[in-house]
Amino acid sequence: MTRNAQWEQIREQLRSEYGAATFNSWLKNIELDKIDGNMVSMTLPTRFLRDWVLNNYANRIRQLWSAIDQSVTAVDIRVKPLDKKNGAASKPSFGLADTSEPFKSKTATIAESAHPDPSLMAPLDPRFTFENFVVGKSNELAHAAARRVAEAKDSVPFNPLYLYGGVGLGKTHLMHAIGHAIAANSPEKKVLYLSAEKFMYRFIRALRFKDTMNFKDQFRSVDVLMIDDVQFIAGKDSTQEEFFHTFNALVDQNHQIIISGDRSPTDLEGMEERMRSRLGWGLVADIHPTDYELRLGILQSKVEQGKLEIEPRILEFLAHRITSNVRELEGALNRVLAYSDLVGRAVTLESTQEVLRDLLRANDRRITIEEIQKKVAEHFNIRMSDMHSARRARAVARPRQVAMYLAKHLTSRSLPEIGRKFGGRDHTTVMHALKKIDELRQEDIALSEDIDLLMRMLE
Ligand code: ADP
Ligand code: MG
Repeated sequence: MTRNAQWEQIREQLRSEYGAATFNSWLKNIELDKIDGNMVSMTLPTRFLRDWVLNNYANRIRQLWSAIDQSVTAVDIRVKPLDKKNGAASKPSFGLADTSEPFKSKTATIAESAHPDPSLMAPLDPRFTFENFVVGKSNELAHAAARRVAEAKDSVPFNPLYLYGGVGLGKTHLMHAIGHAIAANSPEKKVLYLSAEKFMYRFIRALRFKDTMNFKDQFRSVDVLMIDDVQFIAGKDSTQEEFFHTFNALVDQNHQIIISGDRSPTDLEGMEERMRSRLGWGLVADIHPTDYELRLGILQSKVEQGKLEIEPRILEFLAHRITSNVRELEGALNRVLAYSDLVGRAVTLESTQEVLRDLLRANDRRITIEEIQKKVAEHFNIRMSDMHSARRARAVARPRQVAMYLAKHLTSRSLPEIGRKFGGRDHTTVMHALKKIDELRQEDIALSEDIDLLMRMLE
């Protein structure tokens, strides 16, 4: 494989690991320069980008290089300004994770001017209102808590409100809904909503421009602070520290804080203990995966809102088959409708199956490693975080091995991928676990039955 092909492969891997938004913000513009002995040299167009990538991603990039080519043991990233002539095409894009905000995007501005100050607030999506939120068993607690916070005039019902759940289940929707409701009911209140990623980004920039006083003031003067996807700052120590202080300052002033995360506070690895405990101080509400009724309800509400023409049995089919999350469910409905619009024919069950073939297949056999870990942890009564921890006590090590075993048998993930999901373990550890469990299944009938039961529950 040529160097360029190797690099292409690494880029793909980075994109899938970090997601398109992060990839486009930080990693897209890395260019391969040369390989010198055991050192791979790459370039980025600005110092700011370079420093950021070195601090946050270089380690992973080096690992990926070494995985492809063992002789590579170090990476170096240098600054190479963009060639002005062909700059347009390869201009770095600076969209942040919430791509809805057209962030003032000239790299040059960020690197050179001392006070680039677009407003801190990320815009609220006008569709994400309480009216458009369909309530079901899986989200009723989170919804009720969000309503309560949004309607509280002079009190702070719980601080913080911590919402958590898997992707695409409505966390961001609820936060925006709170923002809209407060803007409508208490327009004098200063509400600030942003992703944890952006919080960090702003913080780093404040440090860089020696502007932290201003940064602190801006955050501490708000009445309601909402931070989305807090898991992003796990492991980012100085950002976490700053967030902790902001958090405390606001709680002290009795100002409302709303946080979302993809897991419970206790399961936030890489988050300091004191931060995890603070996050659990108020009300912790989790959003569970959707059930059939809720999915159908959501589809019906979309159809009503959009005055769309579609047979009920098609909605039932979708609610039945697209079980992953609401985002995909909405996407499926849109695709079906777009297709029928394009070909000028009404939606049929056949066309639906045809248009969604890939999605349906993926939904059929998509069990995630997280689901497996969660079920296994529940079953053996250990903490989810023990799936990732380094603890070797039999009481946690054995369930962990069972989870690895199930991950291998129920998903299409490779051994290194599985290892990574278990606290960055090596693939040989996973291999060992598989062997061990295979052996145990011969001797230990109780364990073997446990595993069969777990398999049935997961499938
Ligand atoms: P999360 O932040 O949890 O990943 P989002 O809030 O972005 O998920 O939701 C993904 C999509 O699903 C959004 O378009 C949102 O409007 C929609 N959605 C999620 N839950 C509901 C619900 N209960 N009712 C209506 N729409 C929902
Ligand atoms: Mg979200």
